[in-house]
Amino acid sequence: MSVMSRRLLLKGAAVGATLLTVRPRYSAAADAPLISENDPAAKAVKYVDDAKKAKAAAPGNTCANCGLYQGKEGAKSGPCQIFPGKSVTAAGWCASWAPQI
Ligand code: SF4
Repeated sequence: MSVMSRRLLLKGAAVGATLLTVRPRYSAAADAPLISENDPAAKAVKYVDDAKKAKAAAPGNTCANCGLYQGKEGAKSGPCQIFPGKSVTAAGWCASWAPQI
């Protein structure tokens, strides 16, 4: 490996490390972007951001009391296991609602 290509390799590694450091982490973070009701994954399970809009939702069932919700208690939104990298509203609901165990 020439000195020039070694320098380029090291420069690329440094840039990559910098990008990894400043890149936002949405995977399971509470600040992940909210999923849109129009997202195909949301539509597939009839997700709505307000359970009152869902005729099929049993009274009182919301994302906040769903077994798949991973948001903090009292938070307005949080991650959901079926939407990796996205958040759902605590007041939301979808057809995959499951009781907490
Ligand atoms: Fe909300 Fe549960 Fe459906 Fe996730 S699985 S969107 S937490 S009702």
